Amino acid sequence: MAKIAFFSTQPYDRQFFENTAGRHEFEFFETRLRSRTANLASGFDGVCVFVNDKVDEDVIKLLQQLGVRLVALRCAGFNNIDLRAANKYGIRVMRVPAYLPEAVAEHAMALIMTLARKTHKAYNRVREGNFSLTRLNGFTIHGKTIGVIGTGKIGQAFINIVKGFGARVLAYDKYPDDSLKEKGVDYLDFDQVLANSDILSLHCPLTPETHHMINRDTLAKMKQGAMLVNTSRGKLVDTSSVIESLKNEHLGFLAIDVYEEEEKLFFRDLSDLIIRDDQIAQLITFPNVLITAHQGFFTRESMEEITRITLENFDDFETGRSSENEVNCQMLNDC
Ligand code: NAD
Repeated sequence: MAKIAFFSTQPYDRQFFENTAGRHEFEFFETRLRSRTANLASGFDGVCVFVNDKVDEDVIKLLQQLGVRLVALRCAGFNNIDLRAANKYGIRVMRVPAYLPEAVAEHAMALIMTLARKTHKAYNRVREGNFSLTRLNGFTIHGKTIGVIGTGKIGQAFINIVKGFGARVLAYDKYPDDSLKEKGVDYLDFDQVLANSDILSLHCPLTPETHHMINRDTLAKMKQGAMLVNTSRGKLVDTSSVIESLKNEHLGFLAIDVYEEEEKLFFRDLSDLIIRDDQIAQLITFPNVLITAHQGFFTRESMEEITRITLENFDDFETGRSSENEVNCQMLNDC
């Protein structure tokens, strides 16, 4: 039985993992994992972390000194883990590479549909007895051109959805997928996708190369009035440039499930506090901006998958088996 310390625990993590009693031993900490909190992992074989835990070299070193030998992510993205340091200090890193790509893809489409048809405004209006349609005029997805950046698991699930809407799909990926070309997806270079898309949806990982891929220059290349959708990672987008573009009325709509500085805000109820992040405070005031707090993954079905696969990762760690869910700097040629 492996002893695992969970960080960034939410009530729903407890609910799903506590039901698996007996297989491994868990302790749940609400705090995020960072240098100041790493000591909590003392006496544990592994830590289980989420998107905003910061597992940098300092943390890895501390974990190794405490005898921890596993960092298990309850998510797919692993940009918050220093894989070189994990390799150096002999710590295995495992993740949940795919649980339900459709969950995130469907959330991206929910954001698009909400902004396109203003259902969030209509909902509030009708509850107040206001049945007027003034300013609720939207736009149809059918016939529009949708640009998809990153055609991996979530990008492909998203493409399947938008094809059902009768939209044209343009795509950019560092490693294009030939099978998608046969399905009518047009791969173009990044700038061409920017210039021709009515809606641009980001589905690539955060890497040094993709950091701020949406910035002042690339925003200027987008169609006037286009919609930008980010359900991937906040740091793909330079928030100050996006605010500027929205204010200049060049970018028409923004839908985000992730935010550059989300670790200070997301997954917490701050409704009684002053929000000190001026950029998100400003974005919240824009009528053409929709923000959700990293809930793309959050469906009953995907939580079940995340729990199942994470438990398998703990089993493989305990028995010393190799795992396809392992990530390391060798496989990324970055050691
Ligand atoms: P994936 O690995 O299956 O696909 C990523 C794709 O991006 C690949 O096809 C890859 O070739 C491409 N890519 C890599 N570098 C690129 C670059 N420089 N330019 C263009 N394309 C590039 O990953 P996935 O499962 O589809 O997940 C995509 C991202 O979604 C994850 O990295 C994660 O950040 C995010 N995500 C968000 C949520 C959420 O709740 N909002 C949940 C899960 C994943």
